[in-house]
Amino acid sequence: MVYDVVIAGGGAAGLSAALYAGRAKLKALVIEKYNITGSQIIYTSEVDNYLGIPSATGFELANKFKEHATGGAEFVEGEVLGIEKKDGVFIIKLSDGSEIKSKTVVIATGAVHNHLGVKGEEEFTGKGVSYCATCDGAFYKDKEVAVAGGGDTALSEALYLSNICSKVYLVHRRDKLRGSQAYQDKIAEKENIEFIGNAIIDEIKGEDKVTSLLYHNKTDGTKKTISVSGVFIAIGMKPDTAILKGIADIDQYGYVIAGEDGRTNTSGLFVAGDIRQKNLRQLITAVSDGANCIASIEEYLNTGK
Ligand code: NAP
Repeated sequence: MVYDVVIAGGGAAGLSAALYAGRAKLKALVIEKYNITGSQIIYTSEVDNYLGIPSATGFELANKFKEHATGGAEFVEGEVLGIEKKDGVFIIKLSDGSEIKSKTVVIATGAVHNHLGVKGEEEFTGKGVSYCATCDGAFYKDKEVAVAGGGDTALSEALYLSNICSKVYLVHRRDKLRGSQAYQDKIAEKENIEFIGNAIIDEIKGEDKVTSLLYHNKTDGTKKTISVSGVFIAIGMKPDTAILKGIADIDQYGYVIAGEDGRTNTSGLFVAGDIRQKNLRQLITAVSDGANCIASIEEYLNTGK
């Protein structure tokens, strides 16, 4: 049997693609790793920036997405190990040795935030530790927070949070920031952002929620603790593109080069969500990507282009 579309990834982008595939009456299959629906979103304690849903836990929203998408596609648990295009048909190889055939493929396997790997990080994720200021910043109004990192993401997160929080500590492992000069100039103008350089974060502490951050100075070893309600970790992301090596062009940061229509350089192969090269990685843009991919796929199946 040959599917019209196989969607790898059961996060917001993949589920949106599944919903739209169902509406387009395509024979669709979603492959979810570990049978986890919602992907990154389930780790978000509260989502308040999804249009029409002022407040929901990530878990609730993920379940709503799945409920809405079910019926539009078949779902199977599995891990995609490789994709090959032979005689105009994609062969998707799974880790259990099975193979699935499809006329088109949407890869929506996302990207994962790099973790500091320090004590307290995992325990307090969703309870003060966040990887997205735009998603969670509003919960820290008039509070003191820390941002870890020195690249553009950390700087833009710090700037964003400085408009909400009373104080933002920008904690970086080097004495100089890596982010763009334009961001650095803006940071310098902000009275409520304090740069802490040469700082190696040792632990995130709290009880039910985060209360403090412990770090030491790389040069002299001095240990310090700052009282914060939130720690935003912005030390880069890793897109999950291993299965696309050789069949899709990847940019210098590891993201797949594709426009809003999701088309990659291999015809019939599409990408949606955080794996795609783009400016804003949010739930709402992932959902939009999934819908756009199916529109492109309908055109591809009808015209071959
Ligand atoms: P990035 O540029 O790779 O910076 C990551 C930062 O995290 C670096 O400062 C790095 O420190 C630090 N870091 C990495 N691992 C760490 C660890 N284990 N412990 C402590 N610190 C660690 O990543 P990014 O900021 O996410 O940016 C990714 C790309 O997106 C960049 O090209 C950036 O320009 C772009 N971007 C652009 C915009 C914009 O233009 N509006 C906004 C956001 C991102 P070191 O400096 O010591 O390596």
